[in-house]
Amino acid sequence: MCIFCEIIKGNIPNYTVYEDDKCLAFLDISQATIGHTLVVPKQHFENIFELDEDTAKHIFNVVRIVANKISKSLNVKDINILNNNGKLAYQSVNHFHIHIIPRYENDQFNIHFSENKLSNEELVELLDKIKRA
Ligand code: AMP
Ligand code: ZN
Repeated sequence: MCIFCEIIKGNIPNYTVYEDDKCLAFLDISQATIGHTLVVPKQHFENIFELDEDTAKHIFNVVRIVANKISKSLNVKDINILNNNGKLAYQSVNHFHIHIIPRYENDQFNIHFSENKLSNEELVELLDKIKRA
């Protein structure tokens, strides 16, 4: 059972912000910050690796539309757009979704990138590996 598929089918209630034929945007039940919204494709894709090109294009445009709606309505200019894939990346619902998280002065949401400096050689080796794939 996929909780987001159940929401899409209307079997579990949700707070819909935006809907079209391909996707649904609704308030996250746990508001990391006020206005925290999820955008999900109506078709079940587990993660970014399963997502097809058309849905990917469509969904990111909807993220843009919803981010603008949130920005205007809640008067926020700062927003994080996040997507978790897999256990190590903290994906807890295995139906692809994008988080829109408005940011406020002194809010409690924490996103921290650790610094990991590589040498030029290491960067070039890494680049080659990724570009070859
Ligand atoms: P992730 O950890 O990236 O997989 O995010 C899953 C998100 O789904 C979490 O932020 C949850 O709070 C949210 N969530 C789980 N169940 C529901 C629900 N029934 N309605 C709205 N959001 C939900
Ligand atoms: Zn699903």
